[in-house]
Amino acid sequence: MPTDNEFTRILQWPGYRVYQQKIDEKNKVLELWVRRKRGNQKLECSGCGRKFLQAYDSNERAVRDLPWSEFRTTVHIEVYRVKCPECGVKREKVPLLPSKAPFSKRFEDAVGMACESAAARRVARQFRLAESTVRAIDLRYLERWAATRRKPALHELGVDEIHLGKKVKFLTVASNLESGEPLWFGRERKKETLDEFFHTELSARQRRHITAACVDMWEPFRLSIQEWAPNCKIVYDKFHIMQHANAAVDEVRRAEFFRKSKELREVIKGKRWLLLSRWMNLDTDKRRLLNELFALNRRVFKAYLLKESLDRLWAFRSEAAMLRYLQNWIDQLRWQRLKPLEKFADMLLNHLDGILNYCRTKVRMGVVEAINGNIRMLLRRGRGYKNLPYLLLKVQRFAATKAEFVVFKKAA
Ligand SMILES: [Zn+2]
Repeated sequence: MPTDNEFTRILQWPGYRVYQQKIDEKNKVLELWVRRKRGNQKLECSGCGRKFLQAYDSNERAVRDLPWSEFRTTVHIEVYRVKCPECGVKREKVPLLPSKAPFSKRFEDAVGMACESAAARRVARQFRLAESTVRAIDLRYLERWAATRRKPALHELGVDEIHLGKKVKFLTVASNLESGEPLWFGRERKKETLDEFFHTELSARQRRHITAACVDMWEPFRLSIQEWAPNCKIVYDKFHIMQHANAAVDEVRRAEFFRKSKELREVIKGKRWLLLSRWMNLDTDKRRLLNELFALNRRVFKAYLLKESLDRLWAFRSEAAMLRYLQNWIDQLRWQRLKPLEKFADMLLNHLDGILNYCRTKVRMGVVEAINGNIRMLLRRGRGYKNLPYLLLKVQRFAATKAEFVVFKKAA
């Protein structure tokens, strides 16, 4: 039987020693009782950080710690309260016990880390915890991370919206394009929504430092940015513009096949997503399917070609060339009777300045899209993100760990 001293050395709780243990071999449970080492007598008020030598009283807490081999481990720890002139009778601060929940910090860290790569349900099974407990631990883990990290400066802002569903319809997402992380979530997508972000999250100085914003052609966002960020150039990004182009192509498809026979409509049905894909991303089979569709309707074909060619707009480096290309593109619409695309072209002309701004300010495009994708992936992975602050921290952590991974790979 190992001695208390050896248990202390394996447990490695700084400042604490094991003075009693119990091993239940049948149920694979290890219990350890710890108290402060002799040299570790200073008590810290958990309210203000003031140090005390005298304890007010003490009690014992049982927390779950990392397992020892197959043994599930519980540590019983003596915890004191201090009588603080500032805060009254208060618990002492124990770094190993991050919250009132019955878990040690390193146990919570292990659960939080597991949650970075697996859904809460799976982590719950792995640690034999309730799913709601896993989420609560994960949230605390992320809050601790957020409290200690340095937040990157904001120069390039991304604003996007995510359609969630029937109840909470839209989520407005403000993000930092350089660090690739979301900064804030707002419900709905009004001017007031984004106003709230500028107002509550940023100082006047931070707002002045924003040089560019990548947004959708959505008037309320533009108005809010102009009001709050005086030095910010608005750039309508490719991703959103191509989304509108796709929507126009889809409308052409619907209008063209609306009055056609049922069989024909069936043929079209499954091919909708093909029309929304880039040609270069399709394999031979998919291209053949799409060509079959084009053989049925020339207008859908034309609309698709136009959509595909618009993509080149962002390859130009000079404003003049970009403008010329866009004008040529719009000229091709003439005599085609493609109403949805004509409407789309009007939209482009009405937002011309913000489109051409891409030449003046090269913002990181695709970041907004990537963040959007991460949020969707997390939403798909599990329920439990009704708690928006949790979802936000989760996506931020996701962006940060991926960035670290990239840095690591570069160094290697
Ligand atoms: Zn205090």
